[in-house]
Amino acid sequence: MTAEPHGGTLVDATASRPDEADDLPALTLTDDEYMDLEMLGTGAYSPLDGFLTRADFDNVLEDARLDDGTPWSLPVVFSTEGDVPNQKHALVHDGEIVGSVDVEETWLYDEDRWAREVLGTTDDDHPGVRRIRSLGETLVGGTVELYVESEEAGYERRYTPREARAEFDGNGWHSVVGFQTRNPPHRAHEHLQKCALETVDGLFVHPLVGSTKEGDMDPGVRLHAYDALLDEYYADDRVTLGTLKAPMRYAGPREALFHALVRQNYGCTHFIVGRDHAGVGDYYGSYEAHDYLREFEDELGVEPLYFEYAFYCHACDGMATAKTCSHDDEVRDNPSGTKIRRAGRRGENVSEKLVRPEVWDVIRDELRGESAGSEKTASLRTGGS
Ligand SMILES: [Zn+2]
Repeated sequence: MTAEPHGGTLVDATASRPDEADDLPALTLTDDEYMDLEMLGTGAYSPLDGFLTRADFDNVLEDARLDDGTPWSLPVVFSTEGDVPNQKHALVHDGEIVGSVDVEETWLYDEDRWAREVLGTTDDDHPGVRRIRSLGETLVGGTVELYVESEEAGYERRYTPREARAEFDGNGWHSVVGFQTRNPPHRAHEHLQKCALETVDGLFVHPLVGSTKEGDMDPGVRLHAYDALLDEYYADDRVTLGTLKAPMRYAGPREALFHALVRQNYGCTHFIVGRDHAGVGDYYGSYEAHDYLREFEDELGVEPLYFEYAFYCHACDGMATAKTCSHDDEVRDNPSGTKIRRAGRRGENVSEKLVRPEVWDVIRDELRGESAGSEKTASLRTGGS
C-alpha cells in the first residue's frame, strides 16, 4: 500500500493529441517549463493540474499554500511576454505541439517578491534568483494537458508516479523511503539510505536529472555511479533506482517540502531530508529544512526522516553522526562532494571509507576529463543531498 497522493487524488492530465491542436494559438515552452508540464501531466505535482493561477501563486509565495490551504511551497508557472487571451493554447517545445494550456489569466508579477519569499534572497549569485530573473514579464495560469512526453536520454530511467506505485506494489512493499539527490553517492548518502531502509520495506533512489547548475556533475555519470554502488552493496529486491526529470530550484527549505510532496505522489511513505537539503552556497542554515518541514508534518501523507550530517569516524570505525558518535573532529573524515570533486580533478585518490572503490572508478574518470577551468564553479558548495 503506497502513500495517498497529496490532496487525495493522483492527477492524470495526459491526453492524446487532438487534430484541433494545430488550429490553436501557440505558446512556446522553455526546457524547464516542458519538464514542469510533464510533471503536471503525469500527476507528480498532484493536486496541481495546471500552471498556477494568480490567487494560488500569491498564496504559495506568502504561506507556502494553495488558495484552498493545501500545502504547496514552490510556484509552478508558465511565463511569457505581454497579455495572452483567455482560451486554449497549444504548448510547443522544439517546434512540436506537446500539450495545451487552457489560459484563465495572465498577470504581471514582482520577481523580487517571489525571490524574497521563496528563496529568502534577491541576490543574483543565487542560481534560483537568476532563474526567476530569466523569465518573461507575465505569468499565465490555467489547466494543462500533456500530449507528448520528451525522449529519455540514454542514461535515464524515468518513472511516472503510476509506474513507480505499480512497481512498489509489485515488490510487495508496504512502506517505501524516497531519496532525492543530484550528486554521485558517497558513504554518507549510503549510510542515510541504509539507516532508513532498516525501518521500511523498500528504498526509492530518485536522482533529479533536470536542469541543475554549473559545477554539478553530469547526470549520466551520477547514474552510473549509483549503478556501481547498488550492484555491489545493496539487496536487489529492496531498492529501485529511477530518475526524476524536473528543474532544480535551489530553494532550500521550501524545496525540501516540495521534494517530499512529489515523492509522496510517487507513492513514497517516507522521505529522507539530510543536511542543507536543496541548498546552495550559504543561503540556508544546515537544518533549516528540517525545521521548515516540521511545521507542515501533520498535513503531509509522507513522513520526513530527518538526518544529521554523516561522516566516517576512525575511533568508531564506521559511519556515524553527531547523534551516535562522541569523538573529536580530528578522528572524523567528512565525505563532502566538493572535496571528492577536487581530489578527482587533481588525480588524487579518495579513501574507500568515504567513497566505495566501484563508485570512485566511475567518477574519477569523469572528473579527470573535465577542464581545470571548471574548478571555480565547482567550489561553490552544494547541499548535502
Ligand atoms: Zn566516533
